[in-house]
Amino acid sequence: MSLCVFDLHCDTLTAFRTPDRCTHTLHDACAAFSLQSVPKGTNWAQCCAVFAPDTLSPQQAEVFFDQTAEKFYCQMGEYAHLAVACTDGEQVEAAWEQGKTACLLTVENASVLGGKLERVETLRQMGVIMMTLTWNGENQLGSGNTTEHGLTSFGIQAIREMERVDMVVDVSHLNDKGFWQVAEHATKPIVASHSNVRNCCHHPRNLTQEQIQFIIQSGGLIGLNYYSLFLREDGQPATREDVRRHLEAILDLGGEWHVALGSDFDGADLPPELDSCKKIPQLYTYLESCGYSKPLLDRLFWKNAIQFFQRG
Ligand SMILES: [Zn+2]
Repeated sequence: MSLCVFDLHCDTLTAFRTPDRCTHTLHDACAAFSLQSVPKGTNWAQCCAVFAPDTLSPQQAEVFFDQTAEKFYCQMGEYAHLAVACTDGEQVEAAWEQGKTACLLTVENASVLGGKLERVETLRQMGVIMMTLTWNGENQLGSGNTTEHGLTSFGIQAIREMERVDMVVDVSHLNDKGFWQVAEHATKPIVASHSNVRNCCHHPRNLTQEQIQFIIQSGGLIGLNYYSLFLREDGQPATREDVRRHLEAILDLGGEWHVALGSDFDGADLPPELDSCKKIPQLYTYLESCGYSKPLLDRLFWKNAIQFFQRG
């Protein structure tokens, strides 16, 4: 069977808002994730985040989301022969059966709610399946990993509302205090869409052992991020071997059914071995050469994620 990939996070949609990027589409040869770069014969599912910078006011972030989501759906129309917007695992499978790439809309920074709880349901109706509560700094819901304080009461209300409308709570970018507040209030599985293992690379964006164990117990997912700064501490470009080290640490904690990919394509300066969706088949081959079984690698590359989003 051909390779399948389900990637929990990219920032490729950010290009829509960045004037100096090449063609401003999901079909951009310069981008790390591009509909034209998905390796031939590979079934690909890509979570595409609307990333709202912390510098935007709540009102600006709201408009920013609406405009970016509109562009996303325009692109889905323009490239309908290559891709289809999906909101669950069943739709991803249907896309793959038609030979199309599945694109799933997510949010990075719930500042896009504009401080309004009712926006959670609106966003869900617009196809958003998962949302981080914060980016690195502070917003109306709480504060991210460059700060110390946790969630606001609005942030906690938002968790409940997200669960009610079946939008996954993404804990990537939170600080530790915020993470444990989510853990206290969430009743459904939680996901860290693009975070690594702090024991393997000490960075506040990475997860502690206890956090990984909590996500596993919740039935959630951890998406491995390819950014060098989150993979290794010595300032050198990361390699596939670094991904393997972080994978191994999650497996050691019992994460075989919860580990996934969360590339951060077009959102971070990625190392040469991992800087394009074209290179992901080589990551599979490399990990296979390290002795990991195909069933395990299939869980990592797509099965855990697709099953998670099929949970009904
Ligand atoms: Zn991020």
